[in-house]
Amino acid sequence: MFFLGVLLLFFCNCGVQRTIVEKPIVFDEQRIELTKQYLSQRYNLDQGTPEIVPKMIVLHWTAIPTFEKSYEAFENSTLPNWRPDIESVSGLNVSAHFLVDQDGIIYRLMPETTMARHVIGLNHSAIGIENVGGTEGTPLTRKQLKANIWLVNYLATKYDIDHLIGHYEYTFFENHPLWLEVDDGYRTEKTDPGEDFMKKVRRATKKFNFEPLPTK
Ligand SMILES: [Zn+2]
Repeated sequence: MFFLGVLLLFFCNCGVQRTIVEKPIVFDEQRIELTKQYLSQRYNLDQGTPEIVPKMIVLHWTAIPTFEKSYEAFENSTLPNWRPDIESVSGLNVSAHFLVDQDGIIYRLMPETTMARHVIGLNHSAIGIENVGGTEGTPLTRKQLKANIWLVNYLATKYDIDHLIGHYEYTFFENHPLWLEVDDGYRTEKTDPGEDFMKKVRRATKKFNFEPLPTK
């Protein structure tokens, strides 16, 4: 019996006990308003709440070496240098639903079905997972890889997820029905979370049959 138990633990990811640590960022009236404004201005989605219908998971790295500094980057409601009197794309601060530290601990920063600003064009349907690191001195770790695989399993079981992508792949969706960004000039160049990391997460989550990247 003991042997069988060990075998099960060995072969099946369900043996891995994980918890999600709640570490909420500020989501005050201002952030709610800015999020609704973002949905309306960028996507022509006028809705009473900043809710999303998750269809996609986007993996990232923060390019910041520590958990504290990464968390700080997402914590406040507005972008650090935002001036409401100056015209810009939006003052809404960037964020993600999850932040995974280098030791593999998973933190939930905000509700999974509230919009986070983390990927141009697709925020209305995308759950974001950020990973601490991605700088030269702090590459993503094996523990983060395992945590991301666990999270993708958790999310794809809970929601109707069709797509799993790395942030660097987001422009493949420019002609996809999910793409709603109104400004053709609003794009940023991304490399996170690296091709190797994506390859490994995809390999480990094959059973969900996520759709292949659309062709441009
Ligand atoms: Zn990113």
